Amino acid sequence: MPELPEVEISKRYLDATSLHQRIDDVDVRNTYILKDTSARELARGLKGRRFESSRRHGKHLFVRADGELWLRLHFGMTGSLQYFKNDEQAPRYARVLFVFANNHRLAFDDQRQFGQIGLLKDVDEFLKEHELGPDALDLHLGEFRKILGKHRGAVKSVLLNQRIIAGIGNIYADEILFRARVHPTTETSRLGDKALTKLFRASHYVLRKAIAAKANTSQMPRSWLLPHRGRGGKCPRCGRKLRSARIGGRTAWFCPQCQKRQSGG
Ligand SMILES: [Zn+2]
Repeated sequence: MPELPEVEISKRYLDATSLHQRIDDVDVRNTYILKDTSARELARGLKGRRFESSRRHGKHLFVRADGELWLRLHFGMTGSLQYFKNDEQAPRYARVLFVFANNHRLAFDDQRQFGQIGLLKDVDEFLKEHELGPDALDLHLGEFRKILGKHRGAVKSVLLNQRIIAGIGNIYADEILFRARVHPTTETSRLGDKALTKLFRASHYVLRKAIAAKANTSQMPRSWLLPHRGRGGKCPRCGRKLRSARIGGRTAWFCPQCQKRQSGG
């Protein structure tokens, strides 16, 4: 499922392929993923304009068209972008295609259809309306400590809550906790300054490293949890069997040896 690193990779891909070309048409093949806009509005809003820049916040990608109109992309579970020549076949699950004047198209491909596409005038207003927390990579240590100190609950649930910190999903939350050696059910109130600092550093390290690996699992370090998570997987640090648990409605994977449950205050 696309989290901050995957969306950042999509942003870079879009920046490298799709900016500054006139949009001739918008071909909506499935209106299900349109949010607060119609196929007609989308086409009318973008035709004749150009995408000029983009901005990512958490798992959202916002693309600015000239005339101060923003396209919002959320990749849901299986969303991705593909830029290709007009005479090439569109990807199988292309839901919306942006047709450029240079004989290329940009497809929003999304098999499971949990993705979202919308239009808006003001990104900051959108973030405020949807109560999205600060982007995980924009946070400083002081803010991170303050935020986690303010929110009670299992640390993994807090990390996953997009209203507290935006961008971290199930996979990278597990990776961050593994790196910081924190058990996912640890109450945030039990995390001392040292643990919070570790967690903060782990969050930046893991997200940046995943971006550098182009969010490609096979290019991520073998010392990470990611290549081993799943049934029968063993901890790359101590060799014990990894364990799973349902936390905040999601399956957490962790090492019961390296990530001991905190007891006492
Ligand atoms: Zn271990």
